[in-house]
Amino acid sequence: MNWIARLTRQMIPAPCAICGLPSSSGHGLCPACAAQMRPEDTPVCPVCALPTAAPGVVCPDCLRNPPPYDATLAGKFFEPGVRHLIHALKYRHDTAVLNALCAPLLQRIQTAPVPTDAVLLPMPLHPSRLRTRGFNQAALLADVLARHTGLRVMPQLVRRVRADAAQVTQGASARRRALQAAFQAAPRVPERVIVVDDVMTTGSTVAAVATTLKAAGAVWVGGWVVARTLNPSNTD
Ligand SMILES: [Zn+2]
Ligand SMILES: [Zn+2]
Repeated sequence: MNWIARLTRQMIPAPCAICGLPSSSGHGLCPACAAQMRPEDTPVCPVCALPTAAPGVVCPDCLRNPPPYDATLAGKFFEPGVRHLIHALKYRHDTAVLNALCAPLLQRIQTAPVPTDAVLLPMPLHPSRLRTRGFNQAALLADVLARHTGLRVMPQLVRRVRADAAQVTQGASARRRALQAAFQAAPRVPERVIVVDDVMTTGSTVAAVATTLKAAGAVWVGGWVVARTLNPSNTD
């Protein structure tokens, strides 16, 4: 960088990663956007992280039909600001947004009971997808979360052995079976595993990984996601 560029950089703060205005707060965001990047006050279900009646109350859906995962922590609901940051990470490999993305989730983690012997599993990408994208965004997020929590990252616990998502035209149970077959666990897995991902939409992918892990010996599987989609209508 020449001296003019360096001087400009010092005088004009980098644009906010969400809105483009000059950023002055931490994590490369402007004060208004930084204020948005904290967990919502809405009480959420401890199992699926969707809104529920009161803090800590398991929602009717999870009571009626318990998912294969045991707990979910989401930093944010999936709204425009967080979507912007996730796209910056995923499609532009802008790793400068990692801390801003993880901040609300880390706030949630601080107030939740976290099994200290759990290991972190970044949501696996199929090798062909990994080659195209060049990196797994979930692995980048898991590294940040590991640094703050001291938990170990074990990316090899589950592999994605099929790339294609099931056809939308298939029925729900056929889709679930196809998704289930997409994952393969290592011969031995730890008892407690936390799956890390950027967005949780219907939860079907985390559910498939949790089923795979439990079939391989895990007794508790949690999910840590940067954002949770409200009113999920499509598959993730
Ligand atoms: Zn901003
Ligand atoms: Zn629930």
